[in-house]
Amino acid sequence: MKDYLVRGMSMDGFVKMVAIRSTEIVRRAAEIHNTTPNATAALGRCLTAASMMGNMQKVENGSMTLQIRGGGPIGTITVVSDPEGNVRGCVTEPHVPLVEKFPGKLDVGATVGTDGTLTVIRDLQMKEPYIGSVQLISGEIGDDVTAYFVQSEQTPTACALGVLVDRDQSVKVAGGYLLQLLPGAPDDVIDRLEAGIQRAGAVTKMLEAGLTPEDILGQVCGDLGVVFMETTEVSYKCYCSRERVESALISLGKQELTEIAEEGKPFPVECQFCDTVYEFTPEDIQKLLKNA
Ligand code: ZN
Repeated sequence: MKDYLVRGMSMDGFVKMVAIRSTEIVRRAAEIHNTTPNATAALGRCLTAASMMGNMQKVENGSMTLQIRGGGPIGTITVVSDPEGNVRGCVTEPHVPLVEKFPGKLDVGATVGTDGTLTVIRDLQMKEPYIGSVQLISGEIGDDVTAYFVQSEQTPTACALGVLVDRDQSVKVAGGYLLQLLPGAPDDVIDRLEAGIQRAGAVTKMLEAGLTPEDILGQVCGDLGVVFMETTEVSYKCYCSRERVESALISLGKQELTEIAEEGKPFPVECQFCDTVYEFTPEDIQKLLKNA
């Protein structure tokens, strides 16, 4: 089953929303980075959030980067979304130890840490990117994304994210939703949404029960009703290329390149976001040196 996200609007037009099933994206991320369960959940939640945020941003050729540094054992989490919501990501330490809140419930906050920041970098295809940053609340990611929108973009938001890792460490389900109130939303809309969020429960529970992203929005919005808009298939997608790796190598500078060339050995460069390895022979490095 392919991952996709769906956008919608409440019947009254006061709530903008998106929901996603990201199971395959998180499976692919776990495969690439060979993550342990806590890292799978933390990176998976970030990828899920980034896909929805990138899709909502909708700037042609733009991108959205979400970076979390919480001081926990996972180090830094970096995820990037394209304008459709295709994402890629990496973490400093993919092999973090298992930490559970109780048996069967991963403690993502302990893995991420709470002493740090969530930063959003929006490349809106203007001169400078837009950069916003907030202090982490819980390191559970969903709360932190919510806090980011409220504090940094002054947009009342509810964000729920879930990654369910099975006993054999495989990804069972992953997904999430993001709701945003538009200006002028009456208080009773907020109350009804809050009640709907409570009633719907955890995203992983809904996905496990076979609910689609459309069903999830329907559950959360209840009698507010949802008008569904576009649906977009999304996947784990990296944009690396040999040319990009070459320019990265050139930017290392002549001295470092000379040292690599003088070693006289093949020089493999692995992409930080996917499992592609670019091989460079000493002759390739010499050629780059001429261009450096
Ligand atoms: Zn790549």
